[in-house]
Amino acid sequence: MDNNQCMTKWSAAWALIGGIVVCTGCMNGQSITHSEETFPHEPGCKAKGEVTEKPWAELHQILDDERG
Ligand SMILES: [Zn+2]
Repeated sequence: MDNNQCMTKWSAAWALIGGIVVCTGCMNGQSITHSEETFPHEPGCKAKGEVTEKPWAELHQILDDERG
């Protein structure tokens, strides 16, 4: 997957709203100060287990790959 595809996939699973990353499956959020913690999904979230446990870290990785 190239970076555009990674970013498309990331933005399908997550939304950035007011500085909080939000799961599009359960609408729970996580601030950047908790970026090293596992994302707190709702128990019944369908995306849980399908998406990365650390969305901030994944976003960082995508940016890092692009910028070198
Ligand atoms: Zn979720």
